[in-house]
Amino acid sequence: MDVDPSYDVDDVPQLPPKVEELAQASVPSSMKGLRACMRCGIVKTFEQFIEQGCENCAILELEGNSERCNQCTTAFFEGQVAVADPQDSWTAKWLRVDRFLPGVYAISITGQFSKDVEGELDSRGMHWRCKPAEDQSK
Ligand SMILES: [Zn+2]
Repeated sequence: MDVDPSYDVDDVPQLPPKVEELAQASVPSSMKGLRACMRCGIVKTFEQFIEQGCENCAILELEGNSERCNQCTTAFFEGQVAVADPQDSWTAKWLRVDRFLPGVYAISITGQFSKDVEGELDSRGMHWRCKPAEDQSK
């Protein structure tokens, strides 16, 4: 049997050709990492929220705080819209993100802030975009 000299036979048992399976597995795991800020709805990965916080919501103090990131961002959101120029975009106005920075925004966000955070936002006259799950069907 002819063997290509550059072909390392020892590697063969370690390379199961399950490329298809691997490719399918990588999609849900990367989707799973995406979360939306519950106040402004910007969509980023959990890691990005921890590293950078939310650029629109410094008040939430997400940066470097995984517990706050868990409380104030959610994986339960629907739709994504890239907003390049929020002040000049009807989509941004419709989503009520026209005062926020350019980015990818969720169309609807399911979640509820804790009473503490709600009170803090309320006292500053800040609105938030997430809605509790039971309100979504109304
Ligand atoms: Zn935000």
